Amino acid sequence: PKSHATRVALVTGAASGIGKAIATRLAKDGACVVIADLDLEKAQDAAAQLGSTDVAIGVQANVTSADEIQAAIDAAVLAFGGLDLVVNNAGLSLSKPLLDTTEGDWDLQHNVMAKGSFMVSKAAAKVLIEQKMGGDIIYISSKNSVFAGPKNIAYSATKADQAHQVRLLAVELGEHGVKVNGINPDGVVRGSGIFSGGWGAKRAAVYGVPEEELGAYYAKRTILGREVLPENVANAVSVLTGEDLTHTTGLHIPVDAGVAAA
Ligand code: NAD
Repeated sequence: PKSHATRVALVTGAASGIGKAIATRLAKDGACVVIADLDLEKAQDAAAQLGSTDVAIGVQANVTSADEIQAAIDAAVLAFGGLDLVVNNAGLSLSKPLLDTTEGDWDLQHNVMAKGSFMVSKAAAKVLIEQKMGGDIIYISSKNSVFAGPKNIAYSATKADQAHQVRLLAVELGEHGVKVNGINPDGVVRGSGIFSGGWGAKRAAVYGVPEEELGAYYAKRTILGREVLPENVANAVSVLTGEDLTHTTGLHIPVDAGVAAA
């Protein structure tokens, strides 16, 4: 496998939060990075923080649009000469219990995360297969793909869908040398727009803690007693796609500071 220093990575939803931390880490590892997000200006700002357009570019891409995904992948190939690594990170959480969840909520959660990552993986796999140089596809799924997410059915169900895409694509793309792995974060409050976008206030109300103490509250529930930061998730992406971990595919790594079984 190629080292990150010679690789081209595309990260969806990378203008903020976990995606931005992943793009930052991969750039630090030496990769050229394409930051794809809903808003062109935000994506370009995030890219500019990583350096010149020789190392990072920002593109507008809504992952619910096959055309916009294709344009982002074309931009990666045009700017950096190929594609090696794709991270399905774009997402949002409506955080609603069953009786409040509308058909529209269900469709939005599934369009962005289940269908969006399917379409990104499909468009990326075409390039990876043609290049005949292997590659990596990463899904930022969630602890909620395995454990029942608290009163958040549409989000958790679509995270479970993503987790199965990892297993299915690991099998299907293995013959092309493409590894497909997932990461299951939990409790990333600081730096995450999902929380600042309203989820944090709702969760804080559910747990009966002030919103600013939510990170510490999550930390206390973990085995290690540590708060999970976007950088911790980014480190896992770097290791999973790095030169040393060549024989691992179809795996999900929890980045949640440990969840007690009981
Ligand atoms: P965030 O809101 O900071 O980042 C999400 C990014 O995705 C934003 O930049 C947003 O603009 C972008 N996005 C949303 N819809 C999009 C679309 N249709 N097309 C392209 N981009 C889109 O949140 P985050 O916490 O950094 O979440 C990143 C990923 O991590 C999500 O998939 C989320 O489900 C997952 N995750 C987060 C946590 C957590 O604790 N924060 C836990 C488990 C999983």
